[in-house]
Amino acid sequence: MKDSDFLALVENVYAFHTKRAPGIPIAVQMVLLAREKLGKAKLGAVAETQVCLSDAIQFLTGCTIGNKYLILLDKIGKYALTLYDRKDGRGIRVWVDLEKIDPEKMPETRKFFTRTRDPIVVTDMQARKESGKIIVDEFIANGRDIFSWRQIQMKNYAKPPIAAAKVCKQCKESFLVQAEDDEICLICSKVHDYYEAV
Ligand SMILES: [Zn+2]
Repeated sequence: MKDSDFLALVENVYAFHTKRAPGIPIAVQMVLLAREKLGKAKLGAVAETQVCLSDAIQFLTGCTIGNKYLILLDKIGKYALTLYDRKDGRGIRVWVDLEKIDPEKMPETRKFFTRTRDPIVVTDMQARKESGKIIVDEFIANGRDIFSWRQIQMKNYAKPPIAAAKVCKQCKESFLVQAEDDEICLICSKVHDYYEAV
């Protein structure tokens, strides 16, 4: 892929994500690398973190939360992804390899992935922007050299069965049941009562 094509792709993902997050150029290259190594496949994806990586996957592969071809395992919390073939579960996992991020050559990137940047980036938008620019520049200079990848076999890649629906005895709204004997929804049962009526 030409540099100009890559940068155009990155712009599209920035727009989709609605933020110019410095992880996005990195995420785009991770997706492209996994796709190249996987070859022709009916794509499924796994994101091991939520953040911008999951948006790059959704935008570039069409594997989304909504169509369930993106499995979001964000509790793992790693800047890593897998693309796999939905037919046979054959996959490629790509991850950011800290061992390959030379702290001399890519100091800001190393801090970014270890969450050790100057805390000012949390509160000061200008400092955040400058740090983000350094990370992107460091990445453009070093490219895919900071990734590792390996072939994997997915253990469980079947689509989850379609859940049955019931009508909540309390609020009368239809909901998808988790367990056979559920009679009231997770809002009425206060498990996920995330709002207050006003
Ligand atoms: Zn209810």
